[in-house]
Amino acid sequence: MDIQTKLFIDGEFVDAADGATMEVLNPHDNSVIGEVAEGGEADIDAAVDAATRAFPAWRDMAAAGRGNLLLKLADAIERAGDEMARLESTDTGHPMRDTTRLDVPRTVGCYRYFGGMADKLQGDVIPVEEGFLNYVLREPIGVVGQIVPWNFPLMFTSWKLGPALAAGNTVVMKQSELTPLSTLKIAELARDVGFPPGVLNVVQGYGARAGQHLAAHPGVHKISFTGSTVTGRKVIEASAGNLKRLQLELGGKGANIVFDDANIPAAIGGSAFAIFHNQGQACIAGSRLLLHEKIKDQFLDGFLKLAASIKLGNPLDGDTEMGPLTSTLHRDRVLSYCDIARQEGAEILLGGKAPDDPALQAGCYVQPTVVTAQPQDRVCQEEVFGPFVSVSTFRDEDEVVEIANGTSYGLGAGLWTQNLQRAHRMAGRIVTGMLWINCYKRVNPGSPFGGVAGSGYGREMGFEAMRAYTEPKSVWINVDAKIPPFYPR
Ligand code: NAD
Repeated sequence: MDIQTKLFIDGEFVDAADGATMEVLNPHDNSVIGEVAEGGEADIDAAVDAATRAFPAWRDMAAAGRGNLLLKLADAIERAGDEMARLESTDTGHPMRDTTRLDVPRTVGCYRYFGGMADKLQGDVIPVEEGFLNYVLREPIGVVGQIVPWNFPLMFTSWKLGPALAAGNTVVMKQSELTPLSTLKIAELARDVGFPPGVLNVVQGYGARAGQHLAAHPGVHKISFTGSTVTGRKVIEASAGNLKRLQLELGGKGANIVFDDANIPAAIGGSAFAIFHNQGQACIAGSRLLLHEKIKDQFLDGFLKLAASIKLGNPLDGDTEMGPLTSTLHRDRVLSYCDIARQEGAEILLGGKAPDDPALQAGCYVQPTVVTAQPQDRVCQEEVFGPFVSVSTFRDEDEVVEIANGTSYGLGAGLWTQNLQRAHRMAGRIVTGMLWINCYKRVNPGSPFGGVAGSGYGREMGFEAMRAYTEPKSVWINVDAKIPPFYPR
């Protein structure tokens, strides 16, 4: 496979200033895919300098021109779709059937959406006192730092680059050290379709070094961060020096509620997708299954059969439905939660360990795991971020609202009911950034994505994201105002 291994700074692929490199592993068998340059402080500095130089011309380019480049990038990704899907699957462990039908088309769609939006973001004219004209310009913020996690690197890159670039900002992006490859390919395609040097820079490297330096950099005016809540707090602290704008997409512990009036077969299929898609490595995963006590047995009967039948295997095989987790460290972390569940007295209904298949022993695989647990147990409160779902029961709406809202997070949640009034009532009562009713994990570039409480603040996608990559500037003009003098003389 042809991979890009260098940093992308000022329109050129370059080695790290100190020559450092890091190994990139294939989580299917932990074989080495390649050595990628490991950016450090000097590389972040060079990238911020390049982005600073590129900013005035990019800001002043006609918005349609910026949009046009994003549309060309979308076309280029679409043309390279098979290669992108293969690269992403090899680097992250997502099955090809998912990267092909979800990650790549969603990425293309996101660049198209923001490419089309570039010249649609308008300012306002505010009705003010007689004789004055007041209008509000939407100006780009400047140099933006973007820090991305390993669970959906290709797609999340588009969520961040699309609005930032469309709005006229220049970007320094740091992808997770675990999954640097698809972002470097995006940089290559962006260069090829004609993005000016310095507008997009990609410095791959470790969080504690390159990420921390980017978050603290005085030349960066906004940080968009997706990752864990623990790291999010460090980013807040690092960014305080020059009062950076912040947008934080952090962890989640999605409640997925099934009422006794739900369409049970649909709820079973949707709930399996909610937790097992991408091996459960999704901040919005439906990781807490809350079942009405009347349908618990019926639901679990079908759900466990479906979960047990999910085909684990090499992500590059077309019939694989679940691949490995993205790293050995993370697999061990997920398995440690199986031990915690046992210690807490939870019943392991399915899985709870690595698969027995000898062909999967070298990789980072975990079986689909279903445990029964109490809402206050650690496995119901802490983000496991794997194919691990806890099951609890409830009696009525009040009780399930209390359970659903009873964690420190508030990112995504789902509910299954055929009662329209209940659906709307519950939509108002669940504390969350996104709620899916009779579906789960729907995303669209037009629909705001983000959380409340411990899940962070700010939104990706839609007009919300575009606006958040701009500063409103209020301009007052005295057209014909009769202002009595303040100091009559
Ligand atoms: P992480 O917080 O360890 O890393 C995320 C990114 O931050 C990586 O690029 C990493 O290199 C970087 N980083 C690490 N330490 C840093 C520091 N001190 N300063 C600056 N950057 C630093 O998270 P992860 O393990 O890569 O990703 C999994 C987590 O991300 C989960 O908790 C998940 O819920 C969360 N997540 C949230 C969303 C969302 O949209 N809310 C989406 C995906 C993942």
